[in-house]
Amino acid sequence: MLEVRNLGKTYRGGVRALDGIDLSIPPGMFGLLGPNGAGKSTLMRTLAAIQLPDSGSIRFDGIDVLADPVALRRRLGYLPQSFGAYPHASCRTMLRHMAILKGLPDDAQTASRIDQLLELTNLTAHADRPVTTFSGGMRQRWGIAQALLGDPALLILDEPTAGLDPEERMRLYNLLSQLSGERVVLLSTHIVDDIEQLCSAVAVVQGGKVVARGETARLVEELAGRVWESAEPVPARSPARHLSTAYRRGQPVHRCFAVSCPGAGFTPAVPSLEDRYFLELHGARPC
Ligand code: ADP
Repeated sequence: MLEVRNLGKTYRGGVRALDGIDLSIPPGMFGLLGPNGAGKSTLMRTLAAIQLPDSGSIRFDGIDVLADPVALRRRLGYLPQSFGAYPHASCRTMLRHMAILKGLPDDAQTASRIDQLLELTNLTAHADRPVTTFSGGMRQRWGIAQALLGDPALLILDEPTAGLDPEERMRLYNLLSQLSGERVVLLSTHIVDDIEQLCSAVAVVQGGKVVARGETARLVEELAGRVWESAEPVPARSPARHLSTAYRRGQPVHRCFAVSCPGAGFTPAVPSLEDRYFLELHGARPC
């Protein structure tokens, strides 16, 4: 269990990136969803003991993370938003190098673990190519392989699907869906689909605060019967709350939240996590 209490961080210049974050995260895949600038990366770096908060506490399985970051790092796998690789080092050599940095012995058991991770991430055929020649999706899969060295109990993935094409994203979803088991996996993203595909529980973050949290399915179910859509925008002075305007085959689809039908032309819509996300970002409560 990962327990975060009242985490605060203000950067020089006055940006309050974390503003009293409280979270209790059990084993499984947990999503942290928020727009750019919400504070996700600051939170991820703080939880990975790379950056110190101004206030608050973090405990993971009995470890006081802020007091003993080394103990946490022994149990942690971290995929940052961006990472470098030596230009000429092969994928396998880089993994061996990372294993040594993580304190694993340079022996046959570690070599066999690296082979397993290459297999898991579908990189066996590319093991002797430099990571710098990989596509975005392959690079992310390599990043996940290095994060899994040492079989971490806590896995932190910061925007793992950013910039991937749909096929690569799907491949990464398949890989990520196999990873949780007994470990806590924390996945930060601004992509609602990442959460819908992978996470049974989620926290929505905005302006350094958690604005909603819970089981993904429940957050969506709470909107049942209250989401409407129309080809026309929500009328002015309507109590309905505009959620989003999207396009379907070139035609606008306006979605809104209202306890009863907001007017002619609106039809009931099946609620989605994206509806809940927009509702929270606009500061409204579903009930
Ligand atoms: P996210 O990952 O959700 O996009 P970040 O944690 O990167 O959010 O940023 C949260 C806020 O803190 C943003 O307003 C960002 O500009 C600011 N910020 C992030 N890092 C720094 C830094 N090193 N110095 C000053 N401000 C920062």
